[in-house]
Amino acid sequence: MNVILLGPPGVGKGTQAKRLTEEYRIPQISTGDMLRAAIKAGSQLGKEAKGFMDRGALVPDSVVLGLVDERIRADDAKNGFMLDGFPRTVVQADTLGEMLVKQGRAIDHVVCLLAANDELVRRLAGRRTCNKCSAPFHVDFKPPRKPGVCDACGGELYQRDDDKEEAIRTRLVTYDTQTKPLIEYYKGKKLLRSVDGLGSMDAVYARIREALGPA
Ligand code: AMP
Repeated sequence: MNVILLGPPGVGKGTQAKRLTEEYRIPQISTGDMLRAAIKAGSQLGKEAKGFMDRGALVPDSVVLGLVDERIRADDAKNGFMLDGFPRTVVQADTLGEMLVKQGRAIDHVVCLLAANDELVRRLAGRRTCNKCSAPFHVDFKPPRKPGVCDACGGELYQRDDDKEEAIRTRLVTYDTQTKPLIEYYKGKKLLRSVDGLGSMDAVYARIREALGPA
């Protein structure tokens, strides 16, 4: 099953994708995680991406498309994948479609998670991320058992630069102008399922499962 998880920053794509990949046995492919890994590794690509990311702007399409093209060909993605945070522009969506046609594959479902902007700001500003396994936490909604320490791997929790107020505002505007048009784009292809992103993690998870059907 080839799935795209679409939706604004902070709506819970990463959290839900992590859980869905276990049940559906397909890897989560998060371009944000891949870019942060490149920054951490000090690679040239990471250096190029960092400035854009820190201020909440999109990294150029060419950079992200190269990463995804390679990643979806990997062995663990042969039976499917869950794209999280990609595509984010119409150019990315068009190019993804072309890549998949060349490989004799296609997108099966696009699930769009929805939430109002004030809720997204609340979620993003309180978000903390593990510096080792990138598991997401939240100071109010999902605090770790031990403050500052990841429950899953013991890594240190930090606040991403782009989860600070100024960058959050830029990311929401970026979403509205560059990514939101993908809702109509995938509606036109009859692939889109909209899912209410409000409520508990379990409630949202159940809605997504219903939209996707059985594993
Ligand atoms: P995320 O972890 O998905 O919120 O992504 C964090 C940041 O990485 C974004 O604000 C962008 O700067 C960059 N990024 C992630 N995915 C993409 C993408 N598909 N296209 C362009 N930039 C991206």
